[in-house]
Amino acid sequence: MPKKRYIYDIHYHAFDLSHANLSAFLRRLIMQRKQLLNENKLEKLLKKYIPRFVKFLVPLVPYRKLSEKIMGGLNEFVDGRFAEIANTLAVFENPIEDHFLIIEYFLKQNPEIIKDNKIVIGDDTYDKLVICPLMIDFGQKTTKLNFKGHYNRMPGKPIVKQTIDLFNAIKNYYKYELVLDKETDRFIRKEISDPKKKPMLILPFLGLNPENYKAKNGDSSINSLFKQYFDGYNKDTKETRMDRAEKSIEAFLKFEGKLTDKNNKDKNLLNMFFGVKLYPPLGFDPSKEINLELFDLCIKNNIPITTHCSDSGFVTETQKNQEEFTSPLKHWNNVLTKEKYTKLKLNYAHFGIQGHEKTEWKQKIVEHMNVYPNVYSDISSLAQEKSYYKDLTQWLSLNDKSNICNDRLLFGSDFIINLLESSSYNQYLENLKNCNEELKENICIKNPENFLFN
Ligand SMILES: [Zn+2]
Repeated sequence: MPKKRYIYDIHYHAFDLSHANLSAFLRRLIMQRKQLLNENKLEKLLKKYIPRFVKFLVPLVPYRKLSEKIMGGLNEFVDGRFAEIANTLAVFENPIEDHFLIIEYFLKQNPEIIKDNKIVIGDDTYDKLVICPLMIDFGQKTTKLNFKGHYNRMPGKPIVKQTIDLFNAIKNYYKYELVLDKETDRFIRKEISDPKKKPMLILPFLGLNPENYKAKNGDSSINSLFKQYFDGYNKDTKETRMDRAEKSIEAFLKFEGKLTDKNNKDKNLLNMFFGVKLYPPLGFDPSKEINLELFDLCIKNNIPITTHCSDSGFVTETQKNQEEFTSPLKHWNNVLTKEKYTKLKLNYAHFGIQGHEKTEWKQKIVEHMNVYPNVYSDISSLAQEKSYYKDLTQWLSLNDKSNICNDRLLFGSDFIINLLESSSYNQYLENLKNCNEELKENICIKNPENFLFN
């Protein structure tokens, strides 16, 4: 049988806002806005309600960046951005259990993207689309909120719950498909006969900040976590690691909703995580001893790491050194220059986006790629722009003299976080038609396979 051709999105997010009924809130806001518009008091209304809305949103949702974006959007909704906000909420407000089913349903609506359960991009057909949902560990050192309200405590967002929700969502994806019931005009889940024929393969990354693991039984070690998810991975070859990806379908279908057994001991959950996601703006400092231990474990077990690398993102109130933690010029540079960590498999996300058209981070990433054999970078949250691939090719021809990016750049979307900047997940795949054939083959297939499995 010929080798299967998969296409990879290395940077994806799946989570929901089921705790906050934002739509209802927005609807109320709009109703009142309409009323007040008549009285020509819109300014007054925005001043009055928007701060209240922020405070309502922030404690329930630590995805601050998102709330800011929604707020930004709200400010502009008089200018016609409401459709984009509604579009975003329409995905976020669904329970995560249905997330992948919904994304698949809407991909299938375009036969130029999914045809006979295969992925189509221009003239190319792929057996599957592989997506890597990256979890974010929002565990916080302090729960104090910066406002004077009565319930001035941020609710915990334990990574355990996020993990269980995500695993269940993936399980549902392999078990069902969504169909529109013509009579009721509602989605219904239909059980499918062969999960292996699904057009998407979902390989999540574990969101991790080792410091948040300190409290458990007083042990600062993340060894037990690695034993739980990556036991035996140190012996993998490229073939056996790829085999784990295929086996993941079965592993998720067998998932019973628990990470521990009857005696509260960690279950072995193999073939369910394929990498580690780090988020420096939330306090992950790459130079800390406990985090160096994490890198040791990742090297030993050949686990790829994706680290957030742009000068914006979710930031905690207490975090002051976030730039030093995130920048490829600072702490990461110190890590990689240590002999022991030169082989670390590291993906700088977002190709180091900086504001004000600065490119120092991007230049440094390319420099690191030239020196270190396992440094990669993904183009997530950039790849939705129509002109992006043209601009990228131009930039590379001027700044990447050794063509190292041909081997190290990775395609990623950053969907669902940046849905306000795009119309849908479909857009990322459609936009790949604007990427030249060679670059597409490299960033969507060859490089991600090396990053994930080699
Ligand atoms: Zn992201």
